[in-house]
Amino acid sequence: MTATTSAVFQRCIHPQCGTTVDLDDTTFRCPRCGGLLDVAYDWNRIRPPKSLRDFEAHWARRSDPLSFSGVWRFRELFPFAPEDRVMTIGEGQTLLQPSDFVAQYVGSKEGRVFLQYEGMNPSGSFKDNGMTAAFTHARMVGARRAACASTGNTSASLAIYCAATHLMRAIIFIGSGKISYGKLAQALEHGALTVQIAGDFDDALMRVQQVAKQLGIYLVNSINPFRLEGQKSIMYRVLEALRWEVPDWILVPGGNLGNVSSFGKAFFELLDLGLIPRVPRLAVINAAGADTFYQLYERQGVRWNGGQPDQAKINSYFTAMDSANLRADTLASAIEINRPVNLPKALRALERCGGVVREVTDQEILDAKAKVGAGGLGCEPASAASVAGLKKLRAEGIIAADERVVCVLTGHQMKDPTATVAYHGSDPKTFEEVLGKRGVRRASYANRPVQVPNDLNEIVKAIEVYA
Ligand SMILES: *Cc1c(COP(=O)(O)O)cnc(C)c1O
Ligand SMILES: [Zn+2]
Repeated sequence: MTATTSAVFQRCIHPQCGTTVDLDDTTFRCPRCGGLLDVAYDWNRIRPPKSLRDFEAHWARRSDPLSFSGVWRFRELFPFAPEDRVMTIGEGQTLLQPSDFVAQYVGSKEGRVFLQYEGMNPSGSFKDNGMTAAFTHARMVGARRAACASTGNTSASLAIYCAATHLMRAIIFIGSGKISYGKLAQALEHGALTVQIAGDFDDALMRVQQVAKQLGIYLVNSINPFRLEGQKSIMYRVLEALRWEVPDWILVPGGNLGNVSSFGKAFFELLDLGLIPRVPRLAVINAAGADTFYQLYERQGVRWNGGQPDQAKINSYFTAMDSANLRADTLASAIEINRPVNLPKALRALERCGGVVREVTDQEILDAKAKVGAGGLGCEPASAASVAGLKKLRAEGIIAADERVVCVLTGHQMKDPTATVAYHGSDPKTFEEVLGKRGVRRASYANRPVQVPNDLNEIVKAIEVYA
């Protein structure tokens, strides 16, 4: 299990431990200290690309599925799979959209704000970037069943890969009443075995790990380091769209902290390989109703500390949270998570990229979401946290008006229409039921539907008034 001589392996993230694990191991925990694992490469034995521009050669080979994929066209930067084992369904055809409309909203200069829209993936969220990589690893080790706990998008992604390939059976664990209809619909329609447990995401994640271990089922939650290898490609595509120039800031919503961990790894690997001259800064945005990372990082000063974060401080935070029976509570269901499993990796990412963490309220999230939509891209509530966070960091002066900023829009607008319709609709009862009880007071940028009688003159009159 340990002492590998292969050029690709898994390695404990804590440098003091550094235990290595074989590529095909699927426990995803360090056997010695229980820490998280990285996928690691011996770049003396695998030749890395010489320049990021080399990847442009893949554009001319779009008829090859591996070059078509927005993930696998960067495979030389995560070379863990033989090409004939790669499972791709064409993920990663995404868009980096410059948005002066959003720039104006947050107080940035024209041409400085970009939205990385991951809703264009086959299952409608960034999760497909990671799923294609984890799925490929699962296939390499001969898995027949794959499981995850999910607030919705991981399960939608797993379900779609299983349905599109028929190589594996999807088993998904969701908390009861916690999943949006759009996401539940995907899991059901794509044929996943859907296990609804009486509890929230944190409960579901704990259970799925126990069940996966007991039944030998392949786990695709973001504790799986192969998923994070695929998610690195989100940042490669950002660089590609910026003609390989490094932006000043990347802002990303924080839930289980897989994305920020993956982005950090992507950038410090590129820096170590001499492929970029510097790393961008990273900002993780929590929802105020699920702000563990914000509390630990900004309030309690917990740091990576060379691989030894203050575990006593972290444990006492969780103990206090449990004894107060504090449960994550936000409309941004994709980040409604209290115990982020990738916490140590996220600390490491912020350390090396000069990171910050902020929290935003559901009010700020929905207002930012309305602005994103009015600016021409739709996203789900959790995704808009990145834009709400940018507004906050601009107001604080942490991010300057002329800095080049990328907000990651993690999921598609149609994932969760309930909050959107409640926000824009004109029914006060729905507003109260969906938004009011979560602390949202106003729909600051509502686009209300207009009620008119079924009468041609009245309809014409209404249109002349409003448009
Ligand atoms: C999963 C998810 C997140 C949270 O990402 P982490 O990597 O868990 O921090 C944010 N937004 C959306 C839409 C998601 O599906
Ligand atoms: Zn270890």
